[in-house]
This record gives sequence, C-alpha cells and structure tokens, in this order.
Amino acid sequence: MLIVMEQGVSEEQVRRVVDKIESLGFKAHPIPGAMRTAIGITGNQGPLDPAEFEMMPGVTQAISVTQPYKLVSREVKRENTVIQVGGASIGGSLFAVIAGPCAVESLEQTLAVAHRVKAAGAHFLRGGAFKPRTSPYSFQGLGVEGLRILSRAREETGLPIVTEALDTDTVDLVAEHADVIQIGARNMQNFSLLKRVGRTRRPVMLKRGMSATIDELLMSAEYIAAEGNYNIFLCERGVRTFSNHTRNTLDLSAVPAVKSRSHLPMIVDPSHGTGKRDNVAPLARAAAAVGADGLMVEVHDRPERALSDGPQALYPDQFDALMIEIRAIAELVGRKV
Ligand code: PEP
Ligand code: MN
Repeated sequence: MLIVMEQGVSEEQVRRVVDKIESLGFKAHPIPGAMRTAIGITGNQGPLDPAEFEMMPGVTQAISVTQPYKLVSREVKRENTVIQVGGASIGGSLFAVIAGPCAVESLEQTLAVAHRVKAAGAHFLRGGAFKPRTSPYSFQGLGVEGLRILSRAREETGLPIVTEALDTDTVDLVAEHADVIQIGARNMQNFSLLKRVGRTRRPVMLKRGMSATIDELLMSAEYIAAEGNYNIFLCERGVRTFSNHTRNTLDLSAVPAVKSRSHLPMIVDPSHGTGKRDNVAPLARAAAAVGADGLMVEVHDRPERALSDGPQALYPDQFDALMIEIRAIAELVGRKV
C-alpha cells in the first residue's frame, strides 16, 4: 500500500504515519518527491484497510499498489530516481559512463586503464576483484588485493569505483572499498545476497540475469529496496537466445520497457551484451539513443593479454573515439556526458 501525504505536510505528520505502520509490524518507506511525499508499506501479507490511514492528519489517500514490485514501481514514485555517487550521478541529466577492465589484474594494469578512461571522460572506474567465472580453473580475481588496487586507483584518479560482490560473506569488504556494489547477472536472483546489499547503504548496480524477464529484474530490485536501500540502478547486459553471432543478445528494448514500469535508472553494458570488441561501439551508440542512463564498457590496455573477457575489451584509443560519438548522441537526446 502507498500512503500519499498532502502537499506541505509536516515532519510530525509523516512520523505519525510511520509510527502507525511500524506499530502494525510492517516496514515504512518514506518517499520524498518534488510534488508529494508518499510512504510505501511493505511486509504486510494481505491487503490493508485504507480507511485506517486516510483518517490520519496529513494523509490524502491510501492506495493499493497493483504491481508485484512496489517500491521500485512508477506507481509509487513518478519522478526518475537520481543517484549521487562521489561527485557523479546516475539517472539525471548526466549520461554516466562506467569503464575499466573486466578484472583487476595488477596495480599497473588498473592504473594504466584508469588514467586512460578518466582522460577520455569516464565518470566511474569498473573492475572485478571477485570474478564469477564459468570454469573453476579460470582466473577468479585478486580478491582483497584487487579491492585495495581499486581504492588506490580512486585515490589517483578521483573516479568512483564499481565492483562486484559475489557472495554474502564479502559484501562488507566490498562495501568498504566500492562506491557502487555490482550484483552480477548470475546472482540476480540470489535473494540472500540481494537482501544483504539492501542492508548496506551503498548504491547497487543490479545486472539483468541472462534469462530473466523485466518483471523478474524489477522483483530482484524490490528485494534490495525492501531492506531500505533505495539507491539502485539496473543494467541490461544481454540475454541468452538462439542467436549465436554474439555472446548474448543485447535487449535494448528493455530500456524503455523498464522506464515505463520503474523510476530506477537503467544503463547498458554492450561489452557483455555482445562479447565482441567490434560490436561494442555500435551498440553503445544505440544505447545512448534509446534513452539509457549510461553505459558500462570494458576497456583494457592490452586486451590480447587480458585474464578475462579480452575479446570484448576496447583498446583505449577505441574508447576515446567512442566517447566523442557518445557525447554527440547524448546531446541529441537531452543528456550530457
Ligand atoms: C561483469 O560485469 O564483470 C560481469 C561478470 O558481468 P555479468 O554479470 O553481466 O556477466
Ligand atoms: Mn567481463
């Protein structure tokens, strides 16, 4: 249920509604907006009686939310969510660019890529310290050492860090070093991990599972929001289809579909979406045109030596060229890079 408060409602009136929700054993989620403040209720198994809330001072209306995902739905919040992270933002007028290697391999490699993507205008540095690999014999990431390298790269470049948390055991460790915690495609429905990152206050980038529908993606985001962490953005990274000319099939139509259902920002990852370096720039341009809130792109200083995902990594010069194109396209759709 959603409690819609009157315009100019007092803090005291909001607090009384929150107290009432909590006294019933449910969780209250105040959602401030430009036009109105609303309070979402979660934790109730059955329907609530709107009259119980509508008689309270400051309440305009109590409405039941029809979507199975509630806090992340447009029904509950009409305005787009804008997430502020370390001087950058996602979901507002900025078209956010997250770039970096697939995996942190060494200090030298990470700093080399970080300086190049920063110079080209990227807003965030990505890099996996804990890597989800299909084969147990493939490089699994440097772990804690990788996190320390990322922190060092942030110190040197000022770029906020996006890095993956693979399991509940390492969430706190990742949260200590990361500005944004990435939840990978393989973990999109790892509900205990989603709840765990929902209890941190770090922004979360949730990637779409490789065979997940949009509704399933939004339900997973709801798991995070229901724990009180509302700083979530989504990432389309391609889904499995019969089509085998690319690693995955990048579903750009997910962007407008998600935006009509949810207020959360959505970015696009054309690197995992295609798996092929030469396809990354065309789909990155398309992502900017389709109205995505940003991009995540893998870049490596020496892709032929990369320990993971070398074939999809852009050379730094290619990333420079892509940024020039993206700037022009973003401007056409009212964004700046
Ligand atoms: C990644 O971004 O490093 C990654 C492993 O992506 P995905 O979870 O989308 O496969
Ligand atoms: Mn990768």
